[in-house]
Amino acid sequence: CGMVAIVGRPNVGKSTLLNKLLGQKISITSKKPQTTRHRIMGIHTDGPRQVVFIDTPGLHMEEKRAINRLMNRAAASSLAEVALVVFVVDGMNWTPDDEMVLRKLQSRDDGRKTILAINKVDNIKDKEALFPHLEELSKKFPFDEILPISATQGTNVQRILDMSVASVPESPHYFP
Ligand code: GDP
Repeated sequence: CGMVAIVGRPNVGKSTLLNKLLGQKISITSKKPQTTRHRIMGIHTDGPRQVVFIDTPGLHMEEKRAINRLMNRAAASSLAEVALVVFVVDGMNWTPDDEMVLRKLQSRDDGRKTILAINKVDNIKDKEALFPHLEELSKKFPFDEILPISATQGTNVQRILDMSVASVPESPHYFP
């Protein structure tokens, strides 16, 4: 199996996206701080390929406290095992925290692919308002793909699923 990480600050729409990707409601209700490096949010199987979608809670914590810095580092190093990172931002609400998460991704780029998913485009009237942010972010990080998405409406969610499946290796133990 291979892992795909859904990364982004709180409220950008990660759980909504995961529900759409998995085509079902999953209930991740715990909002407690996590001590694990990542948690499994769901699994998608497509023939011999199995995608394990993970969340890396530690990446979103502020770095002021030593314990948070440790968790940040653990989360960042857990991304080394990941085949694809889906970095989700809220197209309605860009904040400096997006860049904080991006900086951590950047410090651990081991050749894996990264998609920038600009979410909530269903709510954006003035699409051109996206460009200044886009230009700034893509100058700082070489995204493999930039996708406007709507997690609630499902826009471009299939594309993310296809890229996820393509990024993981085939299982050697697959018998159709
Ligand atoms: P998370 O904290 O990153 O997991 O974010 P959630 O999935 O919990 O979503 C946060 C809020 O954004 C919720 O109120 C969602 O309904 C809303 N939301 C998520 N995706 C979209 C979208 O594509 N369009 C709109 N308009 N709202 C969205």
